[in-house]
Amino acid sequence: MAMQCKKCQGKLEVIRSCWRVRMCCRQCGCEYQIHEVADILDEETEELLARYPSIIYD
Ligand SMILES: [Zn+2]
Repeated sequence: MAMQCKKCQGKLEVIRSCWRVRMCCRQCGCEYQIHEVADILDEETEELLARYPSIIYD
């Protein structure tokens, strides 16, 4: 099950810029901080995030 945007049901994908990781909606371009979507994080995404050694969850 893919993670969905809270605004438009678009698919969220992980984007990384420098030390920060965000979830970004493909459809509307809305960005979410990880803690904002923590309740809907799926296993696949959690594993992906776990591979980034020094993430700052701001
Ligand atoms: Zn969206």
